[in-house]
Formats: sequence, C-alpha cells, structure tokens
Amino acid sequence: MARRRIIAGNWKMNMTPTEAKALVETLKPLVNNPDVDVVYCVPAIDIVPVVEAVKGTNVEVGAENFYIEDKGAFTGEISAPMLLDAGVKYVIIGHSERREYFGETDEFLNKKVLKAFASGLTPILCCGESLELRERNAYKEWIGLQIKADLEGVTADQVKSMVIAYEPIWAIGTGKTATADQAQEVCALIRNTIAEMYDTDTAEAVRIQYGGSMNAGNAAELLSKPDIDGGLIGGAALKPDFGQIVNA
Ligand code: PEP
Repeated sequence: MARRRIIAGNWKMNMTPTEAKALVETLKPLVNNPDVDVVYCVPAIDIVPVVEAVKGTNVEVGAENFYIEDKGAFTGEISAPMLLDAGVKYVIIGHSERREYFGETDEFLNKKVLKAFASGLTPILCCGESLELRERNAYKEWIGLQIKADLEGVTADQVKSMVIAYEPIWAIGTGKTATADQAQEVCALIRNTIAEMYDTDTAEAVRIQYGGSMNAGNAAELLSKPDIDGGLIGGAALKPDFGQIVNA
C-alpha cells in the first residue's frame, strides 16, 4: 500500500499575521501538487488568517502547540476545540524545542497525543536524539523509548492515521542534515517499533517524516528512501524553496 507523501512546514515564532498572509500568497503557485499533502503549522495568532488565506488550495493548516484541557483557567493556552473550530487539522506534538525549552516530558506528550486523537486533531509526533546520544551510539534505544512512551494507550487505528517525524536535534536549524542513509535507518527503526507494538499493517500505514535542515537541495534524496514519507521543514518552509521540497 503506497503511503501518501506529506510535507509540513513548521513556521515556529517567525511570522506576524500580515507576513503569514503574504507568505501563503507567495507559496500558493509553488505548492500546488495534488499528489502531496501540504501542511502549514503556524503560530496560534496566525491560524485564523492562514486558514482564510489557504481556502480553495490543497494546503491544510496545523497548530504548533495546544493544551490538554478543553476550556478553563489556563491563561495563555489554546485548546483542541478552539483549533478545530478555527479550521485546524494537524498539531505538532513533542517538537524538541518544546521538550527542551518548555519542559514537556514524554508523560505529558502522551496526554497530548491521546487528547489530540480524542478531539479529532491529527498529531505530528516528533522524536529525535541529541548529538551526545548520537555520538554515544545510544540513539536507537532513545528513539524506541520515546515512541513507546508517547504512544502509550494509542490504538492501532489511531496510529495508522497519524504522522511521526524523526527530527535529530543536532540537525534542526543547524544546516547540518542527517545523510539520507542516517535518516532512513531511524525512520525504518520507528516503523519496526510500531510493528512490534502493534502489527505490520499499522507499521506500513503510519507516515514517517524526516526533519532537520531539509532544503531544496537535499529533499529529493531524503524522500527517495523507502521509509521516509515526507518532511517536517523549519527554515526552508519560510521561503520559495518550500515549493521545491513539495515537488521533490
Ligand atoms: C524543525 O524545527 O522542525 C526543523 C526541521 O527545522 P529546520 O528545517 O530549520 O532544521
């Protein structure tokens, strides 16, 4: 069964609402590819204008974050029902920046994954190792532990519908990309972990992205690998290069 490609931009804290609308217009003719799922994951304040701006295109909108309660006294947070009402389909969970700067643990991320599914949002669950773990050759065990902890209590059907992004921390925003073979090795390991936890059907269905300094120059080689079904793109998602990645 062929898995449909998914290329998602993670815009991070970069675009004002005015800039976000302009970026959607710039990218519009460049990302128009019916064979690829294209997603813009944008900051909360950009969601409403970006949903409006992508109307009538092939682009879906994702959030970069959300909180696990539906409503209440959680100053500054945004809930799944708010995102859904605004037209959001995907949500990034477990990005290394949220793990590192905002103290999000696997236990909390597991709650987020469960909440996303219960609400009808599709998680893009990120995992990845630090340079230190890579150099100690401890990365495979680490990724396996992250996946198992973050997916506790998630059903096979839910896993089939989600997206997992392998993002080595040492490659994020550094210009240092994992080689296509390094990325393939870990994406295959993630798929094997899913097969062990669930079954081969589930492992064959889940879409796995690579993320970490993917750009117009290296995307085609990374995306040619059998277990890499797409990309999660930071820096290059803010430039016309994103169109080249979508079409790579
Ligand atoms: C990211 O933060 O998800 C990412 C992959 O960033 P970059 O492409 O800039 O390395």
